[in-house]
Amino acid sequence: MLMRYDSRRLQCKIFIALLLAEFLTEVSDIASGLLMAQISQQNLLANKLLLYAYFLFHMFIAPLLSLYILTSLGAQRRHTWRFALALGIPCFLGIIAIALNPIFDWIFFFDKNLDYRHGPLLFLIYLCSFFYIGLILAYIIRHRTSVPNLKIAYFVTFIVIVLLSLIVQIMFANLLIILFIEATITLCLLVILENNGEIYNSMTSVYNRRVFLFENLTALRNNYSYNIIIVKFLNERYYMSVFGYLFMQNVMRDIAEFLVSITNTSSVFDCENGNFAIILYDKAKDKSSYIIDMIHKKFSQDWMQKEISLEFEAQICLVNVPEDIKSLEDIISLVDSSGIKTNNRVTILKQDHLQFLQRKSAVENAIEKALQEGSFKVYFQPIWDCKANKIHSAEALVRLIDEKLGFIPPDEFIPIAEKNGTITAIGQFVFEESCRTYAREKLSSMGLSFIEVNLSTVQCMHKNLPIVFKNTLEQYGLGTKSINLEITESAAINSKDTFHQTIKDLRNLGFTFSLDDYGTGYSNASYIFDMDFEIIKIDKSILWEAEKKASAKIILQNTVRMIKEMKMKILVEGVETEEQKNLVAGLGCDYCQGYYFSKPVPAKEFIEYVRKFNSSHP
Ligand code: C2E
Ligand code: CA
Ligand code: CA
Repeated sequence: MLMRYDSRRLQCKIFIALLLAEFLTEVSDIASGLLMAQISQQNLLANKLLLYAYFLFHMFIAPLLSLYILTSLGAQRRHTWRFALALGIPCFLGIIAIALNPIFDWIFFFDKNLDYRHGPLLFLIYLCSFFYIGLILAYIIRHRTSVPNLKIAYFVTFIVIVLLSLIVQIMFANLLIILFIEATITLCLLVILENNGEIYNSMTSVYNRRVFLFENLTALRNNYSYNIIIVKFLNERYYMSVFGYLFMQNVMRDIAEFLVSITNTSSVFDCENGNFAIILYDKAKDKSSYIIDMIHKKFSQDWMQKEISLEFEAQICLVNVPEDIKSLEDIISLVDSSGIKTNNRVTILKQDHLQFLQRKSAVENAIEKALQEGSFKVYFQPIWDCKANKIHSAEALVRLIDEKLGFIPPDEFIPIAEKNGTITAIGQFVFEESCRTYAREKLSSMGLSFIEVNLSTVQCMHKNLPIVFKNTLEQYGLGTKSINLEITESAAINSKDTFHQTIKDLRNLGFTFSLDDYGTGYSNASYIFDMDFEIIKIDKSILWEAEKKASAKIILQNTVRMIKEMKMKILVEGVETEEQKNLVAGLGCDYCQGYYFSKPVPAKEFIEYVRKFNSSHP
C-alpha cells in the first residue's frame, strides 16, 4: 500500500519540480529576450547571467519530464538507482558544459558586435533529448507486458510529437519552438495522467475496469495469446454493507496492493464489485501457478484489518485467451459473473466451469431464434380464490423450448434476455398472447377477473411502454382491467426514476399491479405499501419455511395480518399440497397459486381446467 502512495507522492513532487523548471526557464528566456533587444557593454553581464539561468533551468526539463513518465509507468519499483543515474548523467554533463562556458564558449557567446552566437556544443542539449526519448522507449518495449496499452498509446503519441518538434528545431535553429512544445506536453500530461479517474480505480488505486476493457480489446484485435487470472471476492458486497465504504476501501486497497506485490511484471485491474483481473502476456505455467498459489494461501486464512478478521470467499479462475474465451463480451461476463456456490473458502475454478459461458451464448442464440420464428409459448397457471372456492385469475408464464437445448427454464433465460435487451420483445409477446387468449376464449364470462403478466424493470425503461400496452389491449377490444401487472419486490425498491415514471403512466391509464416475490428482499415495508398494490404475492419460500419451522410460521402469520390491515389482497405462491392450501386459507389469505391446483399449462388445457373446476364448485 505504501508503495502506491509513495509513488503517487513522488510523481506529484516531480511534477511540481517540472512546472517550476519550465516557469523559470520561460521567465529567464523572456527577460534575456527583452534585454537582448537593447544590448550594450553595460548590460552585457546581466544578459549573460540571464542566458546562463535559461540554459541551466532548461537542462532540467527533459530529465524531469522523462522521470515523470517513467515513474508513472512504475519504473522506480524496479530499477530506482539505474534510472536516477541514467537520467542524471547527461543532465550533469550539460551543467558542466554550461559552467565551463565562460572559458570555452561551448554553449553560447557574444561576438565583437555584441551579437548572440550558438556555441559548438549547443546541439548536445538537443541530443540529450533523443537520449531521454530512447530511454523511455526502451523501457516501454522491455516492459510492455506490464504497462497497459492505453498508457502506451498516450506515451507513444507524446514521443512522436516531441521527436517531430525536435527535428523541426534542429532544422530551423532560429525557430525557438522547443519551450512551447515542452509546455504543451506538460499540460497534456496534467490533463490526461493526473486525471486519475481515467486510469485508476478510485477505491483501490490499481488500473480500473475501463483500462481492463481497452487492454483486452487491443490484445484481441492483435490476436495475442495471453492469460487472465480472475479473482472474485464473493462476499465483498456483504462486508461493504456491514462495515461501510471507508473501512472496506482500506481493505480492498490492501488486497489490490497484495495482488500487485505478487505479480511483478503483470498488471492488476480492479473490475469493481470485488472482482479483480490480472493479465499475463507471459503464458509460462509456473508464473500463473505461482500467482494462484499465493492468492490461495493468503485467503485460506483470515484477512486481518485493524483487529477485525474477515473471512473472504475467494474464487480464482485462470483463462487462456483465445483457447477458452474469444470475445470481449465473454471476458466481461466471466469477470462479472456471480461465481459458483461451493463450501470452500478459496476455490480454484476449473476449465469446465467456463462452460457456463458457452451455455450462455447458446441460450442467447435460442432466444434470438425463438423471437425470429415466433416460437415462444405462453403457459397459464390458475389462481384460486380461497373464499369463493373458484379459479379467479391466472398468471401468464413464458416458455422457451429449443430444438437443440430442449426446455430452457425462464429463471435461466429471463436474466440473459434482460441483459441483452430482448426481454422487451419477449414481454410484449407475453402481453399480447395474454390479451388474445383472454379475448378469444371470453375468459371474463368464465369468471376470470384478469390475467397476471410479469413486467421486467428493463421493459419499464421504455417510456412508450404504456402506450404500446394500451394499443395492444384496444386491438383485442379489452380494457386495462383485463390485465394485472406483476413487478418484483427488488424491482420496486432498487429502480430508478424512469421506472417509477413508467409505473405512474401505466397507473394513469388504469393498470393495476401486484407485488411479486414478497419477502425475498429486505424491503422497508412502509415504502412498499406506499406504492399502492392491488395484490401482494408472498413468495413460495416463505410458505415452505412456515410449514417446517414454528418461528417462520409466526412471521407468515404476522405478514398476512399486516397486509390485511393495509387493505391489500394476499396471494400465497407455491401451494403444492392440501395441507399447505389449508394453512393458507386458514390464515385468511385471499388467493392461492401452486402445483396443488395446476402447473402452468398451455391455453387449451388451462381453459379446460377452469371450465371443469368452476362448474364443479358452483
Ligand atoms: P414468478 O413470477 O415468481 O413465477 C412463479 C414461478 O413459480 C413459475 O416458475 C411457476 O411455474 C412456479 N411455481 C408456481 N407454483 C409452484 C409450486 O407450487 N411449486 C413450485 N416449485 N413452483 C411453482 P417459472 O414459470 O419457471 O418462472 C420463473 C420466473 O421466471 C418467474 O417467477 C418470473 O420471475 C420469470 N418469468 C416467467 N415468465 C415471465 C415473463 O413472461 N416475463 C418476465 N419478465 N418474467 C417471467
Ligand atoms: Ca410472477
Ligand atoms: Ca413469484
